[in-house]
Amino acid sequence: MSINNFSDRDRRLFIETFTGDGETVHIFWNCLEKRTVRLCGRLIPDGVEDPLEYLRCSELVEPSARPSFDLFCNKVNSEINQWASDKRLAIDIPLRLREGIAYTLCHVSILFGCGDDGRFTSAHINITPYSEKEISEREIIDIFTSEKAPKIFSQRITRLMDKNRDRNIAFIQFDVDRFKLINDTYGVEMGDELLKYIKDSLTVICTDEQPFTRLTADVFMIVTAFDTENEIVGFIRSIESTMGKKYKGIEYRLTFGVAIAEDRKLHSRCHGDNATLARKSVKGNALNNIGFYNGSLKKALYRQNDIEEDMADAMLNNEFVMYLQPKYSISTGRIIGAEALARWMHPKKGLIPPSDFVPVFEKNGFIVKLDQLMWEKACVKIRSWIDSGITPVPISVNISREYLNFFDVVGKFRELIDKYNIPIHLLEAEITESVDAAETADVVRQMKKCGFTMLMDDFGSGFSSLNMLKTTPFDVLKIDRGFLSEFMESERGRKIIAHTISMSRDIGLDIIAEGVETVDQAEFLQSCGCDTAQGFYYSKPIPEEEFDKRLNPEKSPFSK
Ligand code: C2E
Ligand code: MG
Ligand code: MG
Repeated sequence: MSINNFSDRDRRLFIETFTGDGETVHIFWNCLEKRTVRLCGRLIPDGVEDPLEYLRCSELVEPSARPSFDLFCNKVNSEINQWASDKRLAIDIPLRLREGIAYTLCHVSILFGCGDDGRFTSAHINITPYSEKEISEREIIDIFTSEKAPKIFSQRITRLMDKNRDRNIAFIQFDVDRFKLINDTYGVEMGDELLKYIKDSLTVICTDEQPFTRLTADVFMIVTAFDTENEIVGFIRSIESTMGKKYKGIEYRLTFGVAIAEDRKLHSRCHGDNATLARKSVKGNALNNIGFYNGSLKKALYRQNDIEEDMADAMLNNEFVMYLQPKYSISTGRIIGAEALARWMHPKKGLIPPSDFVPVFEKNGFIVKLDQLMWEKACVKIRSWIDSGITPVPISVNISREYLNFFDVVGKFRELIDKYNIPIHLLEAEITESVDAAETADVVRQMKKCGFTMLMDDFGSGFSSLNMLKTTPFDVLKIDRGFLSEFMESERGRKIIAHTISMSRDIGLDIIAEGVETVDQAEFLQSCGCDTAQGFYYSKPIPEEEFDKRLNPEKSPFSK
């Protein structure tokens, strides 16, 4: 075959390959004519259209290495199609170099040659088997298992930073969501296999300029230079799409944290720690799996650590108390119910609102204990009203998504009703709209079958309200504070509120408006046919004793 059709560079490459070391397989692949010219090696015959495709379909790639080899081939093809500039791609992969011989770990590297128009004309593929010594050291090959890994990784980061003084450097950390669950469900071997797949994928995805390592079990780190934040998001999305969301039928999801190395004098470990904080800040977030580090994140997470340290003791020391927020009839001005809301009376920090601790408890699962405590307190309260001759009103309690998804809500509610011997209509349950409407619908149906009144909390605050309404048979709809205040501001918004109320009545739902703060709001709601309101205009959430005074001034033990 003639080499006259090629650029000078291709010609030089072609000639260089003749000086091979005998061990290395040199393949010259003519991308334009779609044929290979084998130079110093066996493995791939002359004239094959696409040498990578040939390897892919042969028995020459070790079976367990096939998924990552597939990824590598995809990446090579997409580079060719993008007509990118000079590129070198490489992978370490066990190959069978000669028939009948065992698989040998090889370094496959591809250097593309471009024509004058920047289009790829050729690829020079080198397949070099690693020596026994290199394999036993494994230092270059697998910095995941080597004891020297941290040192090599940190040297590579330093080199990257030195080389890119005028660009930004990002520390991108990621882990596999609920990896423990994958281990428990599919077995530890499968978990290990998934981690190996991720590691192999990284060798394909990351270039020589993007050092990466595995930090602990399922936590990985990549360091890369970049110019814009969008570039990082694009890189992360390309990691996700290259790896896919499934491995051997196991669905998995990755959560990313990004820290930008603004102060290059800091040890790379600090940037790594910041990336950890960023990753943890979005853990469990269904809508966003990329967290970016910023200073306030650190403060928030320190607060989170404080909360987590104190929470168990707080439960033992009875620091969680129940506040009750009255629900009023707008027309009569009388209290017709209450919502139980948790407060934390911290011995040093004073009263902590739920907005500080509920999100933390939702993440770490402690919310389940808090929920149960509040439900029990509500039942104790109802019992005490009955015992002291006060006409009781229903108390609604909040059910967290965690409880809903993993525990027996119906059983627990029944148990409480029986234990305190209270009429079932006096204990009501609030569930906020959620993404997994189907599971919620199931629990709501069972609760209703038992006789409990079910309230849909925060209607209009999220994106699935109408869907929940369609699929889930609630009794009462609670209009969210934000929805009310925001929509009240315009004529169009007021119409939407009015129609939401009439629609709800039409489908047999009662309505409570939450967060009523002004007399205008109360009057407007009443004019639309909504007679029940809960909000600061009437009362903030108050301690139990104060609620007793308002509910029944004569009977209250605190009345004068
Ligand atoms: P939520 O269940 O929607 O409770 C209503 C929240 O709105 C309460 O906040 C209440 O104080 C506030 N609110 C009511 N009316 C007004 C108003 O007119 N203006 C303003 N600005 N706010 C008003 P709170 O007590 O801070 O509770 C916040 C959230 O924390 C609750 O929202 C609920 O999702 C959660 N939470 C509280 N206690 C518990 C609990 O025991 N278990 C669970 N799972 N979540 C709880
Ligand atoms: Mg609520
Ligand atoms: Mg609410």
